[in-house]
Amino acid sequence: MSHDAERNWKPETSLVHGGTLRSEFGETSEAIYLTQGYVYETAEAAEARFKGETEGFIYSRYANPTVDMFEKRMCALEGAEDARAMASGMAAVTAAILCSLKAGDHIVAARALFGSCRWVVEKLAPRYGIEATLVDGTRIENWQAAIRPNTKLFFLESPTNPTLEVIDIAAVARLANEVGARVVVDNVFATPLQQKPLELGAHIVVYSATKHIDGQGRCLGGVVLSDKKWIDENLHDYFRHTGPSLSPFNAWTLLKGLETLPLRVRQQTESAAKIADFLADRTEVARLIYPGRPDHPQADVIARQMKGGSTLICFDVKGGKKAAFALSNALRLILISNNLGDAKSLITHPATTTHKNLTDEARAELGIGPGTLRLSVGLEDAGDLIDDLERALKAVG
Ligand SMILES: *Cc1c(COP(=O)(O)O)cnc(C)c1O
Repeated sequence: MSHDAERNWKPETSLVHGGTLRSEFGETSEAIYLTQGYVYETAEAAEARFKGETEGFIYSRYANPTVDMFEKRMCALEGAEDARAMASGMAAVTAAILCSLKAGDHIVAARALFGSCRWVVEKLAPRYGIEATLVDGTRIENWQAAIRPNTKLFFLESPTNPTLEVIDIAAVARLANEVGARVVVDNVFATPLQQKPLELGAHIVVYSATKHIDGQGRCLGGVVLSDKKWIDENLHDYFRHTGPSLSPFNAWTLLKGLETLPLRVRQQTESAAKIADFLADRTEVARLIYPGRPDHPQADVIARQMKGGSTLICFDVKGGKKAAFALSNALRLILISNNLGDAKSLITHPATTTHKNLTDEARAELGIGPGTLRLSVGLEDAGDLIDDLERALKAVG
């Protein structure tokens, strides 16, 4: 199958066939190449491989056939020229940020970041002489105001965790291009199906494949996608020499996840929209944020940059922490867990878990209150999930 034929495939097709490397045995399902190394017919062949004169694998820290299939399939889905798969989402985020910068550079990031991403930007990068400014990313003038002569990178997540704010990626990219900075988008919450950051002008996209891409709560993984030139010049050597490589077994699991990604994301988004409408009408709910509802604060941006809603819902119950805990504890079907994107519906109380390390002020800035809950909608029947929530809300009320 030629590469060009693959380019014209719709996502559903790419996700089943993209990047497949079939061995001489003609297996239907992708093989798991659990090998560290590769053998050469002759010493001359080894020499040629190391010189880059012949194609082939050298060592699985650099590349592995199963991992290669996952990278190629992700490229086909994202419309990216190249990718590197990594052992976790955080390995991918850290690589994307550190490989874009050097001492003396400045990064502007939206302050509504996944906790570990915020640590990398706010705590790790400054140790190496990289300054960071965090802004309310929903207003483009804040990005503009934070720019310094040495600003080299803009970093954002959209929709954000946990309050599902949406940032205008095209506007941030235009600003970045004016000052010669790059834009890295952590696209986990949108999924590669609902939002295409590269098409919107971003330069680098990162995923925690742990979330919707696996989608069944099994293994960690991450991926960085960009143009071939950036990867060759900035990421390639870092990746080979620092060793964040993805295990071939996990790559295989993620390949299987990709096959069903569109079905799952579509179903979970459809259910989430129904649940959001149900929650919005309840008197026990003080606030509900769902990308896809017309009352979302950035509904206009969503209409421009996202193809669909979200599999996540953010809502506040009246009665603060006590009510939020009572609701969580009264649920029978929805599980208490800080993960997301799983086939199982999961609820989390950000103030005491994912965002517990922030000060009260920082949490308030992000719109995380004592009554805030984040619900990741799974593959269960939407009616069953609504019944579970209804019963638990009555228990609280
Ligand atoms: C989970 C997550 C990460 C980190 O991914 P891991 O696979 O857990 O390392 C980064 N960004 C976002 C938005 C996430 O949801």
